[in-house]
Amino acid sequence: MKASKQRILLLGPPASGKGTQADHLSRAFGIPHVSTGALLRSECARGTPLGLEADSWTSRGLLVPDELAVRVITAWMAGNGPRFLFDGFPRTTVQAEHLDKALDAANTPIELVIFLDLSESEIHRRILDRLTCAACGTTFGGSLHGMKIGDACPSCGGDLIRRNDDTEEALSERLRVYRESTLPVVTYYRKKNPSIFHRVDAGEGSDEIFQKLSALVSADKG
Ligand SMILES: [Zn+2]
Repeated sequence: MKASKQRILLLGPPASGKGTQADHLSRAFGIPHVSTGALLRSECARGTPLGLEADSWTSRGLLVPDELAVRVITAWMAGNGPRFLFDGFPRTTVQAEHLDKALDAANTPIELVIFLDLSESEIHRRILDRLTCAACGTTFGGSLHGMKIGDACPSCGGDLIRRNDDTEEALSERLRVYRESTLPVVTYYRKKNPSIFHRVDAGEGSDEIFQKLSALVSADKG
């Protein structure tokens, strides 16, 4: 395995491709890809105290409190070591401050912050054109791939559908939350750690973006 950055944040709006890029980077560099959503679902499924606490929020359709999200992440780090690629975490500046405090206390600070930037018009275009496989969850650009609702998924043969929250109305709400809560996280790291902060244009092709991100992840320290 090549030497690389060990503690990485991938930030970006909906449809910026951060989940896909995080998956590719995780495989290429052997760094665990961690999302709070997946961790919370796993805690809930195992019925742990953290999971029950999280379930009391998510079962009412609410986001878990910042403090609980950070506890889930620090519990994961305690068992898995200080190597991670976070996708969509921290979601708020309060979470970012808690995370930094925990990492500073362990003398294992974040080494790389990548902001996958995408214009709002392009976010709209991608989300409203997006088809999702009902079976495997893979997403496709409908017009890009010449696909429509009801076609068979090229990966697994499942039905391609339009997700319920891939509508103009739901997207407006997601973008409002993104602008009010997550964009300030981008500003927080850009001001606090300008030397490790990198903005990458998410409007380019997936392969070009992966090349740029790989160069940042594998770059020498300092
Ligand atoms: Zn599929």
